[in-house]
Amino acid sequence: MKRARRSRRFSTTNSAKASDGFCQRHDVTFTVHGLAVSGGIAIGRAVCVTSTRADVAHYKIAPEQVAAEVARVRDARNTVVDELVRLQHDLLHDSSSGSHTPQELIALLDVHLMLLQDVSMSVAVRGWIEDRLYNAEWALSSQMDVIAREFDEMEDAYLRERKADLEQVVDKVLRALRGAPSTAAIAAPKRKPRGQQAQQELMLDDDIDVPLVLIAHDLSPADMLQFKRDVFVGFVTDVGGITSHTAIVARSMDIPAVVGARSASQLVRQDDWVIIDGDEGVMVVNPTAIVLAEYGFKQRQAQVERERLARLRNTPSITLDGETIELLANIEQPEDAESAVRAGADGVGLFRTEFLFMGRKGHLPDEDEQAAAYTRAVQAMSGRTMTIRSIDIGADKPLERVAKLDTHLNPALGLRAIRWSLADPAMFLTQLRAILRAAAFGPVHLLLPMVAHNREIRQTRNLLDRARAQLDKRGVTYGELLLGAMIEIPAAAIALDVILPEVDFVSIGTNDLIQYTLAIDRADEAVAPLYDPMHPAVLRLIASTIAIANDAGKLVSVCGEMAGDPRYTALLLGLGLRSFSMHPAQLLAVKQSILRSDTAKLQPWAQQVIKSASPRTIKQP
Ligand code: PEP
Ligand code: MG
Repeated sequence: MKRARRSRRFSTTNSAKASDGFCQRHDVTFTVHGLAVSGGIAIGRAVCVTSTRADVAHYKIAPEQVAAEVARVRDARNTVVDELVRLQHDLLHDSSSGSHTPQELIALLDVHLMLLQDVSMSVAVRGWIEDRLYNAEWALSSQMDVIAREFDEMEDAYLRERKADLEQVVDKVLRALRGAPSTAAIAAPKRKPRGQQAQQELMLDDDIDVPLVLIAHDLSPADMLQFKRDVFVGFVTDVGGITSHTAIVARSMDIPAVVGARSASQLVRQDDWVIIDGDEGVMVVNPTAIVLAEYGFKQRQAQVERERLARLRNTPSITLDGETIELLANIEQPEDAESAVRAGADGVGLFRTEFLFMGRKGHLPDEDEQAAAYTRAVQAMSGRTMTIRSIDIGADKPLERVAKLDTHLNPALGLRAIRWSLADPAMFLTQLRAILRAAAFGPVHLLLPMVAHNREIRQTRNLLDRARAQLDKRGVTYGELLLGAMIEIPAAAIALDVILPEVDFVSIGTNDLIQYTLAIDRADEAVAPLYDPMHPAVLRLIASTIAIANDAGKLVSVCGEMAGDPRYTALLLGLGLRSFSMHPAQLLAVKQSILRSDTAKLQPWAQQVIKSASPRTIKQP
């Protein structure tokens, strides 16, 4: 990775005001390399988000709401000032408090009050609201990031440590803002199609409409999902592997993303211009006009390719030798079901329900809320199959961000997925009842994640019986469903003959199958180069799973990221796969590969590939 250092001014004012047009900036151009996780080119100004503030609302307000938003910040700040003054007063009259002497505390509160009342901070926050139409929380945290970096670069250790005070003060104001919700309607502008982010657009002096890209050290999958409704046209994170769940959500958003970019979030400043090349896994910071023109060209080419692929939307997915291939979608939220159908999916092969449970601060969705969500997804399919996976929480998908603190053991091998559900039967029964209720509205397949033992399936069947009995007792209508297992633990693939009689279908989760077969954490960028879908052990497990399931007449699909990657389409077809589940954005590229394939010719080649010590060297016919 190339790094660049540069000198920065110390100032608590907004270092990139609207008048700093792209052409006038004299910042050093540099590139940062990471892992390419979602293709395409994004060009925009950087919004740097610290992990701790990733849950701050990010949306744009309407111009007429600026005054109200500025007032919100002012009122929240005044509330905190009042609190601190009151506290100071109480301390002065109570000498028995805490481990600090009151004098020290009073002095600390003085520092906080001084920071809160700093005029340049207020002016800068106001600038983000007025110039960019950021909502109050976003404006405040953006300015916090600008100042925090300035603190980081201070020589004086005492001054450097004052950053913690500033963070505490900002957190207090953010909390006060939470108690005073915006009266402004969420007015996030629609994301522009990639092709329209042409170079000329960036040269406009209209800062309000500039595309924005998000740069963060780390983002949880739930944070990422929150940003799905937001205004960003690209993402870069310091950490994460290619199939980490954060990367998966980025891919599902179909916007360029790079993860594992190490110290990207420290090198990029709030408001820098950046190019994200999601195909190459590169970020260019402060690009020159020539570099920008080059990427603008690439962006337009990609748009032409998309338009070409779009013509395949209504073409049946049939190979040259007449095999019909099922193309399913992976979704994270009920509302994704509609876009999956619009993208031409034959059904949903994987609904990752855990996203409904994340970031709920202990209040998990109850049966009615879940039933409504699943029903909405089922109804959107208009008779196509909806495969609902039971909650797969744990490892890199914690329920809450803080849960990461508990991960000192080995979360990927711990209480995750079906293990978690079976360990909490009340929670699992609630989910099962909700899924059964949704099954009254269309065909539902229930998919169990991380199955390793057939008793896990039997226990689930027993719980399903109990859930039905509970619904009967209440007189609630429900539907029938098929039960399937994810094959994503090597044990399940190796002993498939033991699992298969227990289920109606199986779905291969290549993301975890690769992780557990090769013993590499899929979320750890340090071992990302070892994450190899073409490793002979992985290929043999996939091949035998498809073959055994086909022989037994059981439905088999692949719903891991390999299914949506056109580089593996021919091989999976050759191994006998006839059902692929992927992000809707990948459907047409995979369909294109299918239309060009002849499974009869691919079959002997695929057999050669899985027997080879170096599978990549076996030439495709
Ligand atoms: C997989 O492991 O391949 C899979 C589809 O599930 P997830 O990525 O949610 O673990
Ligand atoms: Mg998995």
